[in-house]
Amino acid sequence: METVEKLTKVLRNHSMKITPQRLMIFQILENNTSHPSAEEIFKRVKDIYPTVSFTTIYKTLEVLCDLGELRELTIDDARKHYDPNTNTHHHIICTSCKKILDVFEDFSPHVKLPESFRENYMISNFQVSFYGICKECN
Ligand SMILES: [Zn+2]
Ligand SMILES: [Zn+2]
Repeated sequence: METVEKLTKVLRNHSMKITPQRLMIFQILENNTSHPSAEEIFKRVKDIYPTVSFTTIYKTLEVLCDLGELRELTIDDARKHYDPNTNTHHHIICTSCKKILDVFEDFSPHVKLPESFRENYMISNFQVSFYGICKECN
């Protein structure tokens, strides 16, 4: 995700009001590699702005995803997580503590889509998700 300044401009162009609560969402997400869930972001914003609603947080996250500034991860069945790094990369989740780490590795030579799909689709992106138990949990 880009800087807070750029996002402020993006939101303004989409006639979304810039509120201190929304700015705090960006600050939380900027360079964040912990893949926080909407609930985690909500808790942190609520600590500072007790009147903020979960809907505000969630809607802002949705808009940022629509604008391509944020990526939604569905690796965890229980909740969505958000990733400000929208470049192609992959993830590994611990199924016990739900910690999600980035996997920066080019899997393209190893991931083979059946011929019929390759003929009919221009593949623009793909994600590999690994599931396991981390060392601390094991
Ligand atoms: Zn774990
Ligand atoms: Zn990531």
